[in-house]
Amino acid sequence: MDARDQLAYGRRKFLGTSSAALVTAATLSKHAWGQGIPNRGADNGRSASSAGPENHLLGSVNPSNFSPPPTDHGDAPNFWSSFSTAHRRILEGGWSRQVNAEDFPIAREIAGVNMRLTAGGIRELHWNGAAEWGFVLSGNARLTAIDLDGKSYIKDLTANDLWYFPTGVPHSMQGLGPDGCAVLMVFDTGAFSDANTTQMSDWLRHTPRDVLAKNWGASQAALDAVYALPEGGRYIFQGASPNPIEQDQRTAAASKGRSSIAFHFSLGAMAPARKTASTEMKIVDARTFPVSTSIAAAHVVVKPGGLREMHWHPHADEWQYYLQGKARMTVFFNAGTARTADFAAGDIGYVPKTYGHYVENTGSTDLIFLELFRADRFQDVSLTDWIENSPPDLVRQNLGISREMPDATSKK
Ligand code: MN
Repeated sequence: MDARDQLAYGRRKFLGTSSAALVTAATLSKHAWGQGIPNRGADNGRSASSAGPENHLLGSVNPSNFSPPPTDHGDAPNFWSSFSTAHRRILEGGWSRQVNAEDFPIAREIAGVNMRLTAGGIRELHWNGAAEWGFVLSGNARLTAIDLDGKSYIKDLTANDLWYFPTGVPHSMQGLGPDGCAVLMVFDTGAFSDANTTQMSDWLRHTPRDVLAKNWGASQAALDAVYALPEGGRYIFQGASPNPIEQDQRTAAASKGRSSIAFHFSLGAMAPARKTASTEMKIVDARTFPVSTSIAAAHVVVKPGGLREMHWHPHADEWQYYLQGKARMTVFFNAGTARTADFAAGDIGYVPKTYGHYVENTGSTDLIFLELFRADRFQDVSLTDWIENSPPDLVRQNLGISREMPDATSKK
């Protein structure tokens, strides 16, 4: 059966179905999968048909799994995940959900947490066994911390602001008016779990009363509130809206003064470091955001039809978070192995260090995503750059193409 026969076969089969089925297919065409989604695979006929149960909603989210491009091959690991399929831990004051190596084994270098705090909602005083890099997705949040000299840090952040707290630096976060905040946090190990941070209320609650009284020079009777705290700590709880920031900054710094460390960074105010016809990239790493020594970031905008060009990262795995739009990415895992997946807002992608990939905007709006690396520097290598900066005869003999074939506009 050649390709034309296969198409005819598919059409005959389709026309042979009952009119009720046709109506259903038409009604569902926006979401249905199989109908309306082109089979990019080698076999468009009998071999690609699916006669058993299918979860059509999941299939429509990731058509490249059901109908991979014929260039996909081999036994490649899953590199797609999504906060939208993660369990939400909902408490009074907000919620959180996470994707770490337990659910997403390929992600060994970075774990992600997505959190919502209501106005007044507090993520309690705590610290982590991993460094925390954060991004305000929407709304407003107040961060508090102390640096390693005990000096106070308090800052109000808004959408597109970043923060970074090194391992062990104690901090808290509170949602501000009018509607709290939504944030993304990533941690510099895939094994991180937000259920296993050191929470102030949890530790106090599990310290003998006489020791805690001695530690603070307090009477044991004055500690009743501590031992009424919930087993396991408060984690997230509803609080009152905080004081004006100037007041909190002044009172918190009354004894040791204010920290001189900028734990925050305004990505929104930054100009793109790279610009092509279809792609704009902002790059934030320890060169511009000195405290962020273990996470490097790029914020990428790709216009409809555009491509984050074929490239790789020589130094670290890439953890992606999709903020807006639709994308397709193929990761080449070497030894003839390649796999393609589709991404939408809220999804997570992962590319192991040195593996070639591209990210294509497959939607009708701007595609916006974050690239995050466990590194102090952002680094990538462009396939086109390599070709354009190699001996022409070598390129022609090796690949059968002229070195001049990629023109400037191809670097989109
Ligand atoms: Mn990349």
